[in-house]
Amino acid sequence: MHWSKKYTQCRNCGTQRFPHKLFGYCARCFHSVKRLEEVRLWNLNQPQTLKGYPRDMIFHNPKTFERVKKWHLKQYKERLEGIRYSEEKLQWPISGHDIEYKIREVAILSVELMGLSCFSEPQTPSIVISTQNKEKFSTRNSIA
Ligand SMILES: [Zn+2]
Repeated sequence: MHWSKKYTQCRNCGTQRFPHKLFGYCARCFHSVKRLEEVRLWNLNQPQTLKGYPRDMIFHNPKTFERVKKWHLKQYKERLEGIRYSEEKLQWPISGHDIEYKIREVAILSVELMGLSCFSEPQTPSIVISTQNKEKFSTRNSIA
């Protein structure tokens, strides 16, 4: 299967699911690859190379520059690793643990989104009428 003219898959994440963007990278990876290259070229003595570097003069000294550059390189490398990892994960068999983990994520997210509002909605009116909020919480928990 031809993914691009030169490559059969993304050079970073190995995907064929997403279309080719440029230079052998998919659209998801290309942005970070491009930024990584720009940051690698950062040179404090050549202001035209400082694409995306903080403009504030407090950042324009050699010591801070090295730190900021290093941090940015790390961020983009980690992002590319993250995409690669999630793409690789799709190739592995899915275990019960993976599913459990995903269900937990969804559950945590929905609790966060709803707050505790679900506990104040009357499901079984008798409980709501006859108990305090705190008791309602524990009653609902014990039913579930
Ligand atoms: Zn990719």
